[in-house]
Amino acid sequence: MIVMKFGGSSVADAECIRNMADIVRRYIPRRPVLVLSAMGDSTDYLLEAADSALNTGTVSIRKIEESHCKAVEELELDIEITPLIEELKNLVLGISMIKELTRKTKDYLVSFGERLSVRIASAYFRKIGVNAKSIDAWDAGFLSDDDYSQAWLLKESWELIPQRLIPLIEKGVLPIVTGFIAKTKDGAITTLGRGGSDLTATVIAAACGAEEAQVWKDVDGILSGDPRIVPSAKPLSAVTYEEAAELAYYGAQVLHPRAMQPCVKTGTPVLVKNSYNPSAPGTRILSAIEKDAALKPVRAITTRKGITMVDIVSTRMVGQFGFLERVFATFSEYHVSVDIVATSEVSVSVTLDTAYSLDSLKRDLLKIAYVDIKTGKAIITIIGDVQRSSEILNRAFGVCFKLGVQVQMISQGASKVNISFIIDDGQAVDVVRGLHKEFFDY
Ligand code: ASP
Ligand code: MG
Repeated sequence: MIVMKFGGSSVADAECIRNMADIVRRYIPRRPVLVLSAMGDSTDYLLEAADSALNTGTVSIRKIEESHCKAVEELELDIEITPLIEELKNLVLGISMIKELTRKTKDYLVSFGERLSVRIASAYFRKIGVNAKSIDAWDAGFLSDDDYSQAWLLKESWELIPQRLIPLIEKGVLPIVTGFIAKTKDGAITTLGRGGSDLTATVIAAACGAEEAQVWKDVDGILSGDPRIVPSAKPLSAVTYEEAAELAYYGAQVLHPRAMQPCVKTGTPVLVKNSYNPSAPGTRILSAIEKDAALKPVRAITTRKGITMVDIVSTRMVGQFGFLERVFATFSEYHVSVDIVATSEVSVSVTLDTAYSLDSLKRDLLKIAYVDIKTGKAIITIIGDVQRSSEILNRAFGVCFKLGVQVQMISQGASKVNISFIIDDGQAVDVVRGLHKEFFDY
């Protein structure tokens, strides 16, 4: 068997759903389980609807209702989505009345996106003669903890998922499972974090011992750079799980960062394919790649903007122990996730997403250190061959030097494939283009 996952842009409307079904049909002999995201930008629209209900008391799910009804109509489907739409309306009305929107309610709310898309898709498959069955993730064995908006799956899921899905496949059914969502043991709906449908797919693949997990996107695979910045960026034929995870964290946004984990455990290959260009080979993600596949020292270059850099200089004496511990305890207390760290004897610099509000954190840190917070930074990450790190560093900083760009912090990741450095936001595009030219276009 295989798992095939299609993201929101691959099921955005009737046309896309037909295209997706065409692709899936070709794979029926390999006994697929299908995982779908919400149609198009439904998740964002759902969150917008909740925000307006909360802040202005407006109760409207027009965008959601229209796009889904339109798809049902255009595909000439014989299904009733009104009960789900009504339930959703009531929920948004409830939010406007109580004027409260907890993470738990948000998860319940966004779940409607995936619940609607699998129902519409399976109705379409049945119409074209494929024996499909839509399944809400919890009925496919997805049990999670109650960390709403970023829930973790419980161990039991590993056994439940194959128990629920394999008998269906053996009966010749095409199971269509909602990506992104799960339920707690108490029956509350949770989500696995934005973009979490990738994780749903890789968990199913790993738990069921699938031959591979296919993740269908709207790009030709994992690219050597962001095509909006570097038009000449090329798809990589293969990357390791480790490289793919690094790329996901640092702005390549091709796969959910946690999506690799289940497949690393079982060695299940992940294949990233383009639903708008199915004949393109795509990118294969594996535990190891043969040497000649990685001839160039650098595999990919990414950037992540909107970064804040925090410089923390100890007010205590040199050689004191426990300083880093206190610094990180403070970050942890405020649930601030730190990305890159560089330390010296008396100071530590870290980066984090600008989205965090840092006032109270700064106040606490000031008790033990001088603190300088600088916003408007970008992380540039080079994923490359560690055996050639000196060459990579030499050439990369040569590019920065020529561009007159000041590098403000450097880190070579412990995962050994990652060299990251911090520069000003405004310089990121030039640096990424310069680096791509240096390492790829020669
Ligand atoms: N629909 C969810 C999101 O937009 C999950 C996903 O697409 O993977 O984040
Ligand atoms: Mg989506």
